Amino acid sequence: MTTAAASAKTAAPWVDQPEGHFFKRIEIARMLTGAMVSLPLHVLTGRQPGPTLGVTCMVHGDEPQPSVMIREMFSEIDTAKLKGRLAVTSVSNSLAMAAFNRQSPEQHGKTDMHEAFPGSAKGNFTQRLANAISKNLLDHVDALLDFHSGGSGGRLQNRCGFNGKAPEEVRKRSIELCRAFGTPLIQESSVPGSGPDYVNTKGIPSVGGEIGGCYLGPHATDFYRKQIKTSLKSLMAELGMLPGEQPVKTQGQILFPLKAKAELRPTHGGFLVSFFESPSDIGKYVTKGTKLGEVIDLHSWKVQEELVAPFDGHIFFSRYSGIIEGGTQGFAVIDASLSKILD
Ligand SMILES: [Zn+2]
Repeated sequence: MTTAAASAKTAAPWVDQPEGHFFKRIEIARMLTGAMVSLPLHVLTGRQPGPTLGVTCMVHGDEPQPSVMIREMFSEIDTAKLKGRLAVTSVSNSLAMAAFNRQSPEQHGKTDMHEAFPGSAKGNFTQRLANAISKNLLDHVDALLDFHSGGSGGRLQNRCGFNGKAPEEVRKRSIELCRAFGTPLIQESSVPGSGPDYVNTKGIPSVGGEIGGCYLGPHATDFYRKQIKTSLKSLMAELGMLPGEQPVKTQGQILFPLKAKAELRPTHGGFLVSFFESPSDIGKYVTKGTKLGEVIDLHSWKVQEELVAPFDGHIFFSRYSGIIEGGTQGFAVIDASLSKILD
């Protein structure tokens, strides 16, 4: 075997996997505590051949909701009717999860996994985990869903996105997948170093999904649980993995470029009183000057700032009332004049 052949793409970990649920922990390295950092990989293989949909969960360590819901779906999907397979990293960045943080607590290098792909086998732990995800999942899928949600900051999310810089065919297919994903908002952006941007360079379409949040309370959590299930099943139907099932057609999805989005961040830290705390507020139309929230200085008890819509547009994300640091994302609004409402 030549060196080139030896370094060619390795076989997918599920290549010989029969119908059913397969789970494997891929060991990465031992920490100073003595604990082994590992990558958990779940694969649900259907009876009939078909595409492989890869799903990365918890690339950010404080966004568990999609992983929890996909766990439920694994026991509900009838593999006798499934074509192809779902391959899922249930916790992509366990270091960040252990810190209940977006990023890994490491001393050096890139510690936001969302910017670390394809990773490096010789890098820091975040980069090594990203490398293991590339080698064991991203390099073997026909489509990718990188599944995020609101994190420890209490944000409410219900959107998806595609890479506007992807090759034209990949970009077009990614938009179709975003439409099937069915969230009210579709963002065109590019995140260099993310899993979706990495697979796009190999001709694979992708969806960057973000639904729900954590500690949102039972009403909002129930809403988002249903949305996650509906979105993932619709995406699988679009890929032809669920014979006889059609993707959900969502009317009025809002498609917009990154430049249409304005993020509202308070200048100083304080207690944010949010006026948009319901899941149904995401995508809602607001006019310029609408008060989205106000920030109380907990030292003086005075209202120190109001956060208002900078133009007529749609709520992109909002946030629960609570402590907020200065410079942190409170709300985002999409300029209606730069966005397009889809049929
Ligand atoms: Zn995230």
